[in-house]
Amino acid sequence: MDLYEYQARELLAGQSIPQPKAVYAQNSHEVAEAAEQLGYPCVIKAQVKIGHRGQAGGVKIAHNRDEAILMAESILPMTIHGHKVNGVLVAEAKNILHEYYVSISVDRSSRDFDVLATANGGTEVEEIAREHPESVKRLHIDALDDFDHDAAVEMANSIGFYHADVNQAAEILLKMWQCFKDNDATLVEINPLAKIGDPDDESSKSLCALDAKISLDGNAAFRHDGWKRFADSTEADPYETRAAQHGLHYVHLHGQVGVIGNGAGLVMSSLDAVSGAGEEQGTGIKPANFLDIGGGASAAIMSDSLEIVLSDPQVESVFVNVYGGITSCEQVAEGILEALDKLNAAKPIVVRFDGNAAAEGLSILAQADNPNLHVANTMEEAAQQAARLASIAKENH
Ligand code: GDP
Ligand code: MN
Repeated sequence: MDLYEYQARELLAGQSIPQPKAVYAQNSHEVAEAAEQLGYPCVIKAQVKIGHRGQAGGVKIAHNRDEAILMAESILPMTIHGHKVNGVLVAEAKNILHEYYVSISVDRSSRDFDVLATANGGTEVEEIAREHPESVKRLHIDALDDFDHDAAVEMANSIGFYHADVNQAAEILLKMWQCFKDNDATLVEINPLAKIGDPDDESSKSLCALDAKISLDGNAAFRHDGWKRFADSTEADPYETRAAQHGLHYVHLHGQVGVIGNGAGLVMSSLDAVSGAGEEQGTGIKPANFLDIGGGASAAIMSDSLEIVLSDPQVESVFVNVYGGITSCEQVAEGILEALDKLNAAKPIVVRFDGNAAAEGLSILAQADNPNLHVANTMEEAAQQAARLASIAKENH
């Protein structure tokens, strides 16, 4: 789960990482009020869950109330790289002397944590890192290890936080690590971590987190009261919400073939098979969703799943792909019939069963003698048929 900057700031504040004062605002009236309270100049920043807001015109500096209002009115209606602006952060503007980049993230390939830092932070960090990879310092933290003061100081030294900055930089790195661990984050990034102050007054200089990006591990939500305060009502997909209420692993994909299977791997392969079939048939038919009913699913779970998938008006056909292990195909067949009874749905369903009680499951389906129920022998065949039926149904609208 990605957080907005204003939410990420809350978690950084929990570790006392220095940040400019700021207020979240949702209309130009609130922006004006916040700006008056913080003083000028202040920065008005689009709140969207995507980077490079600055380059897209989503970060602007206001020098007075009128400018603040004008900028709010230009930023609030924006859509940045496909993300609708959700509000703005009004922040004290700081005098930037230098911009650093620091992040801690999960490194999936090496199954440990990565601390990344460079003295070339700011909006061009990716380009500079590409051209001067040697300027980016990387430290791996073993999954069972910790990040300690000495390592943090070494890291800070290696990217050239000069003199007085080194200790503060190391302190901030350690606080980021604490923030990362306490919140089950997969990413804590500060860019820029800015050196701010008066260029002629050494004692005024310090480090300050001017922008933060935090992603949390959704699998750990249960340990954090579900992070309810970060819930994004404007973003929630109604089908995903309903599926979550039933404890189902569902992802809405917006194609025409509903896909239900047991096991994430099998469902992923089923999605690929449907996309492949759509391409091959030249119809562009695509999967409508990912839905994993998990191991040992009951008839009730299957019935709930089918109900959710069929309630999506874009769905023209459904592909049920079950390899019975703990899950019995018999139970799945019962669930399909239960749902069909309840829903009285007229959309075609293509079923492929294999493994535990496959023969029994198929025989239950055959006895139902429902013209919307189709059976295929292999995953490939089933995907082809589901894609074909979806395309025919779509043309008939
Ligand atoms: P991003 O483009 O989404 O990463 O948004 P940032 O919040 O990082 O802002 C982009 C750039 O705007 C920063 O790299 C800074 O150069 C500039 N900026 C942000 N806050 C301030 C500020 O308080 N003072 C000044 N002078 N520039 C700022
Ligand atoms: Mn930034």
